[in-house]
Amino acid sequence: MRESASVASANINKTMSDCIFCKIIAKQIPSEFIYEDDLCVAFKDINPKAKYHFLIVPKAHIPAVSDIEESNSALMGHLIFVAKKLGLEKNLAHYKLQFNVGRGAGQEVFHIHLHLMSDAT
Ligand code: 5GP
Ligand code: ZN
Repeated sequence: MRESASVASANINKTMSDCIFCKIIAKQIPSEFIYEDDLCVAFKDINPKAKYHFLIVPKAHIPAVSDIEESNSALMGHLIFVAKKLGLEKNLAHYKLQFNVGRGAGQEVFHIHLHLMSDAT
């Protein structure tokens, strides 16, 4: 793991046994990854809100963007860089990137994930 994107921070648990995304990352729940590296995975949203709807998810369990610390900055930037790579790979001319932060904003899964959504043809 690259030191600059280290996630060895006090606010983060490696995994949470009751977290659906931790289970997907641990392959306890079958899911097809469209991308994986040492820091994150990406997979299709089970209930897509766009023609292309991917979730880019850090392997470390961080509940929400409101929980990140400065030491997580490189990891958060990495998620965006992976989104850019997926956009290129899927040849998407345009797309939206979204973090929902808190229930009021529609966050349902409390393990940080970046939505990549596109209706590009
Ligand atoms: P949130 O509303 O928390 O920002 O987004 C959670 C997203 O995760 C939703 O779009 C929902 O459809 C998706 N999701 C929830 N459970 C699963 C699952 O088990 N597998 C996959 N692939 N997506 C899921
Ligand atoms: Zn988790």
